[in-house]
This record gives sequence, C-alpha cells and structure tokens, in this order.
Amino acid sequence: MLGHKEVWDSCLRIIRDNINEESYKAFFEKVTPLRLEGNMLTLQSPSQFICDYIEEHYIDLLRKTLRKELGADAKLQYSIVVAGEATRPVQSNSEPIPRNKPVLLSTTGSNTRIKGFNPFVMPGLPNLEIDPQLNPKYAFENYIEGACNKLARNAGLSIAQNPGVTSFNPLFINGSTGLGKTHLAQAIGLEVKKLHPDKVVLYVNANKFKEQYTSAVQKNETNNFLHFYQMVDVLILDDVHDFAGQTKTQDTFFLIFDQLHRSKKQIILTSDKSPVDIEGLEPRILSRFKWGLVAELSVPDYETRLAIYRHKVQKDGIDIDDSIIEYLADKVSSNVREFEGVLNRLLAEATFNRKSISMEMVVNVVNKNIKNTQKEFTVDSIYKTVCDYFKIPSDDAQSKTRKREIVQARQIAMHFSKSMTKTSLASIGAQIGGKNHATVVHACKTVNNLMETDRNFFEMVNNIEKKLRSN
Ligand code: ADP
Ligand code: MG
Repeated sequence: MLGHKEVWDSCLRIIRDNINEESYKAFFEKVTPLRLEGNMLTLQSPSQFICDYIEEHYIDLLRKTLRKELGADAKLQYSIVVAGEATRPVQSNSEPIPRNKPVLLSTTGSNTRIKGFNPFVMPGLPNLEIDPQLNPKYAFENYIEGACNKLARNAGLSIAQNPGVTSFNPLFINGSTGLGKTHLAQAIGLEVKKLHPDKVVLYVNANKFKEQYTSAVQKNETNNFLHFYQMVDVLILDDVHDFAGQTKTQDTFFLIFDQLHRSKKQIILTSDKSPVDIEGLEPRILSRFKWGLVAELSVPDYETRLAIYRHKVQKDGIDIDDSIIEYLADKVSSNVREFEGVLNRLLAEATFNRKSISMEMVVNVVNKNIKNTQKEFTVDSIYKTVCDYFKIPSDDAQSKTRKREIVQARQIAMHFSKSMTKTSLASIGAQIGGKNHATVVHACKTVNNLMETDRNFFEMVNNIEKKLRSN
C-alpha cells in the first residue's frame, strides 16, 4: 500500500511533464500531501487561491493522474492552512471526482476576499477585501466626451458592460500627459464595480507595481505576488511606459498578463506612447499590447475644452464668468491638467487678495504661466512678423533709405529665431539677409544689451513678442 507522499510524488511527475515550469513552481510546489485515507488524498495548501486556481485550470490533469494512482473513484480534498491563522477545518469533498465535471472545492463564491499576501496592505494590518484603488471623482459622469476621446471612451463603456469578453482586451490607451488616460482607466474600473460588484477590480500604476515586485523578491514572496495579481478580474495598469528597461518586472507582468488574458480577464493599459513607439519594452510584451484595441487620446478641440472646463468649474463650485472660461478654453489648450493648474492659481490669487476672479487677473495668470507650446515658429514666419511690425519688406529688395530699421528688424528677428526655434545660428543667418553665424551671435548680444539698458526698446521687443504669439 502506497503512502500519501508516494502517491503525490507519482502525480507530480506526470503533472510536471504536462505544464510549464512557472506554473508548476507557483502552484504545485506550494501544496503538500497531508494524508491518504482509503482512496481519499488530502493536500495541504497555503491559500484558498491556490486550491481555486488548481481546480479551475488543472482539474483534468489532476483527475487523470489521481485516477491512475488511486483508481476510478479517487477522491481529493484540501486542507487550507493560511500563514498566521489556525488550521482551518478540512473541507471535505465526499463525492468521488465526477467524470466530466471539474471539482470545485472552494467554498467562497467570489474571490474578493483573500487571505495572506496583499501588497496593497501594510504588514500587520488586517487583510480584508482587495481595495480597487479607485477614486470616485474619476467616474464616467465627469469624463466629457469629445472627438479626442470618443473611441477610447466608448470602448471603455463596452468593457465596463462585459469585462474580459469584448475584443478590446487588452485596451491600450495612449496619449500625452494630462489628456485623461488615468481618468478614463479609472472610470472603466469604477463602472465595472458599479455594474458587477463581485468582480475584483484593481488599479495600479507601473511604478507601484515595480516597487511591490521588488519588495516581493526581497522577501522571497514572488509566487504570492503572482497569485495576488492573477486573482484579479479587471487589472488596470497605468503608465506602462515606466516599465522601460525593467526586464524582471516586465517578465513578471508578462506572466500575469498571459494568465489573465487566457482566463478572459480584462486588462487595461495606459501609456504616453503607442506600443510601436515605446522603447525598452520586450517585443513579446509589446506585441501583446496590440492584441486588443489601441485607442489614442488626442488634444481636445475648443468645444470639448470648453465643455470640460465648464464642467470642472461647476463641479468645484467656482464662481467664474463664462466669458472667462471661454478665454481659458482658447488660451489653455495643450492639456486639461494645465487648465487645472491655472484654475488653482486663480483661486489662490483670488483668495489671497480677497477679490473675485476678474478677466484682468486671468489674462495675467495665463500670460505668466502658459507657454504657447502649441505654436510652431519658423525663422521665416518670425522674420515676416518683425518686418510687418516695422512696415518694411522682408524680401531682399529692401530700400536703402531705411537701412537702420532693416538692420534692427533683422537683429530682432535673429534674436527671436534663436529663442523660439531649434534652427542653427548659421541657418538663421542664411535665412535672414544671407548673413553668417557670427552676425547672428552679434545680433543677439546687441538685442539683449539694448533690452537691459533701453526701456523703450525693451517694450518694443515685448510688443513684437506678443504679436508673434498672437498670430
Ligand atoms: P493623464 O493620465 O493622461 O496624464 P489625467 O487622467 O490625469 O491625465 O487627466 C488630467 C486631468 O484632466 C484630470 O484631472 C482629469 O480629470 C482631467 N480630464 C482629462 N480629460 C478629461 C475629460 N475628457 N473630461 C473631464 N476631465 C478630464
Ligand atoms: Mg496618468
């Protein structure tokens, strides 16, 4: 008569040959044989999750191997011993392993309760439900739709209805900073929780994931770390570009990604670049990011900005005239976060000076804080604007009689071309009056000196700059 160890060892030999090394290590190496009574083998597991996982994914294999060792009416039960907890009563499964149906020995209906490892909880604190790490302010109600986000927003809404089963898996949201990636990803998570409260939703940004992983490695808890993430139904990983160059973290995420994707769990990723443009990520990971839908967020147009800014002002209960919001929608145009920065500065100034927000205050704050990043300047356009200002022609057939003004216009145009474009000094010289590099250096020096010493000249250069920026 074989003992429990021998029976389990024989099973393991077969199992090991049939599954990949990582899964073997992560799941089967964690359970130990406890006893064998007749044809009932009891395995001890350190967590409910491991039992559930084995049941869900390896039941066929397990059934076959057990039948081979113990006969057709082999039975299996688990004893779950959670670290730091007293031994749980053994869950008894008196039924023989059914012929075609997997045995589900877990007693919990949903996975929202976990025992043991949770990287989001400080050691020593009670480890209750997984907190999805979602902020209610990022709900869909607060996410204004526009052409800039239509595709991503609508994909997000259908994912929230049916997480994991739409073809948008993974959903990869990309766009530059401040365009609403985090907001949208969180909105999807919140909506899933609203429509499917039992689903385990988890939001984490790539840096936090990296820290948790590093700490798990140090504490020898990598398997627990993997198990934790593989329990999630909807995983939101924000700013995945931060994985660049982190090969170990990438490998681990890769395992989690594959496991979740195979089990039809939803994955949502955000990045400031599209998958083709992210550097420092392994090709096998990048190719997976393109399996579902890649949706880009672009800069909102004027109407959408107006709607977003109005919504924000109204939600925060800020008393501000609509003409001011219109002005802001026009001037603060590169991203929404920039608008929030301006709004905060306005509020601070209004509170500090005990004044209401006036147009004058707004113009001042905008001029001080908003760099006109949208605008692309060229040497040619700068030269033309400066010549217009002095009412002189910008082509070479310039009148000899206004030589002094022409020289000044060229010097000022060279000064702005140097600070507002990336063009080389030699090329600036060539485009403005066919001069050389040394002339441009001299021109810039002259303009700077005059600006410091001559108040009228200073104001004139400032006026030209305003004209350039408002064109
Ligand atoms: P990202 O993650 O792309 O850098 P965020 O999601 O943090 O950007 O968005 C920056 C700010 O702009 C947030 O406060 C967010 O609420 C707001 N925002 C962005 N897009 C919208 C939108 N379509 N509707 C309402 N608020 C938005
Ligand atoms: Mg973000």
